[in-house]
Order: sequence, then C-alpha cells, then structure tokens
Amino acid sequence: MKIGFIGLGNMGGPMAANLVAAGHEVSGFDLAAPMPEGVTPAGSGVEAATGAEVVITMLPNGAILRKVADEIIPAMTKGAVFADCSTVDVDSARAVAEQAHNAGLSAVDAPVSGGVTGAAAGTLTFMAGGDEDGFAKVAPLLDIMGQKAVHCGPSGNGQAAKICNNMILGATMIVTCEAFALADKLGLDRQAMYDVVSTSSGYSWSMNAYTPAPGIGATSPADNGYKPGFAAELMLKDLRLAQQAAETVDADTPMGQAARDLYARFVEQESGEGMDFSAMLPRFETRGRG
Ligand code: NAD
Repeated sequence: MKIGFIGLGNMGGPMAANLVAAGHEVSGFDLAAPMPEGVTPAGSGVEAATGAEVVITMLPNGAILRKVADEIIPAMTKGAVFADCSTVDVDSARAVAEQAHNAGLSAVDAPVSGGVTGAAAGTLTFMAGGDEDGFAKVAPLLDIMGQKAVHCGPSGNGQAAKICNNMILGATMIVTCEAFALADKLGLDRQAMYDVVSTSSGYSWSMNAYTPAPGIGATSPADNGYKPGFAAELMLKDLRLAQQAAETVDADTPMGQAARDLYARFVEQESGEGMDFSAMLPRFETRGRG
C-alpha cells in the first residue's frame, strides 16, 4: 500500500519502520525527527499525503493535528483514509473526521497503548473510532504495527476508550502506591502485601503487571530507578484529556479529577517530570498527611 506518515517521533518512527519492513511504500514527514530507514523523505506533510491510499499521523496534540489536517486534507486523493494514531481530545478527533468526510475521505481515530517498546516490537493495542470502510482499509496496517485493534464505534470513540482506560490506570496506580506506603507505616511487609493483594479483590494491572515497588511482583520501571516506561507527564496529558472530555459532556468524575490534580502537582511542582508514572510510590513514602 502507498502510505503517508506524518510525525515520526518516539512512537511514529518505529511504527513507520514496521510498515516498511512489511513491504509497504511509506513516504514520511516530520519537522525534526530523523527519517527511519526505508521511509522515503517528503519535503512537507502535503507531499507525504499526496497520492497516498492511507495517511497516518502520530502527533503531539489536538491543535497540531487540526493544523496538519487543514494542510493535508485538500491534497489527499478522494476515497483515501485519514488515520490518526495520536492521543488527542475527543472534540479534535471528531472535528478532523468531519473535515475528512466532507472532502470525500474516510477517517479513523486509532490511538494506541503499549508505549515505545510496543511501537518498536509491533505489539501496540489500537482502539479505533470511525466508519466501517475506513477501519477495514487500515486494519491490515494496524495488524502490522500492533497485536490487537478494537473498533469502538464512530469517530472519536477510539479517543474516548483511550482516556477512559488511562483514567482508570492513573487512579489505580495512585491508590496502589499509597497502599504500599501505608503498609510500610503499619509495619506490613511489602512482599506479604503483594502476595495478598495480587490474588485478592484489590488486584489490578498496576499491582500485578506493573508493580510499583522495587523487587516485588512484576519487573517494572520501579526496578530500574523509575526510569520510564510511561512517563508521569504523559499520564498527566491523558488525565487532562479525560477531564476536558468529562467537562464537555457534564460527567461527574471525582476520582479522575483527583488523579489529574495529583499528577499535575507531581510533574509541575515536585520531582515527577521525567520519572515513570509509578514513581508516585517514592513520593508517598516520604510524606505524612500534612
Ligand atoms: P514525539 O514528540 O516523540 O513525536 C511527535 C513528533 O511529531 C515529533 O517528532 C515532532 O517533530 C512531530 N511534529 C510535530 N508537529 C509536526 C508537524 N506539524 N508536522 C510534522 N511533524 C510534526 O511524541 P511520541 O511519544 O511519539 O507521541 C506521539 C503521540 O502518541 C502523542 O499523541 C502521545 O500522547 C501518543 N502516545 C505516546 C506514547 C509514548 O509512550 N510515547 C504512548 C501512547 C500514546
């Protein structure tokens, strides 16, 4: 397939490389990132998009996505698919999809989970929103870049699934970390707590698959000095998107709001920036209730 790929950063670079390795013809554009081997460099987003059957974007946020969409949609071939894999706000995803539809294109929002290791290994999970035709056309590409793709409904629903998942993840990680710090103060051994919780009703992905305590449970960033992994500032981005969406539809999300506020404090006022999001545990260890 002839593919345009715009945004070749930490995630987009390895994703584009996997498409090339599977035999697709990829024309790429990024303002700064190096071109992955085998990707044909384009001089602009418009050049990468021109003549492509599918254009994939992997960009930092919704404002940049809207700007890139304004530029490339008029240049795309009718019937082609605009597939955005960035994590952006639901409103931007829906606005860009409408713009694409009005121009005779298909549109799919397909944010990912799995991080840079998943992008490199081709084991991402995609949660997709958009029309059936567009999804069917990009599904074989998602299969190359990932291990699973779930079609969640119309445009914007991929982003909705992503922020709901990460709101659960953020809140669950915080409470898992505060429980370990509470256990310490109560004289409860961390291994004993893990052995109980990981097989009891308090178990979760945060506890069982990403244990935030060094040397306990699953091997995770905690065993590597809390080097990310999934950086606290990326978690903060997703928690802010969740609250932005909740405000738009008047949804009551007190735990998600508390998680956003705590990660904002951790990243912007404390030492959280550049740390894995599970570094909430050393944060709680050193604090009292005041
Ligand atoms: P990144 O900053 O490494 O890559 C973004 C790239 O977009 C950069 O190389 C930048 O130069 C390029 N760019 C910006 N504006 C552009 C423009 N107008 N035209 C062309 N290129 C432009 O970020 P990333 O880690 O690759 O993340 C990309 C997206 O994936 C984000 O939305 C992020 O939230 C999401 N995501 C990231 C992870 C992760 O672990 N890194 C996990 C899941 C989802």
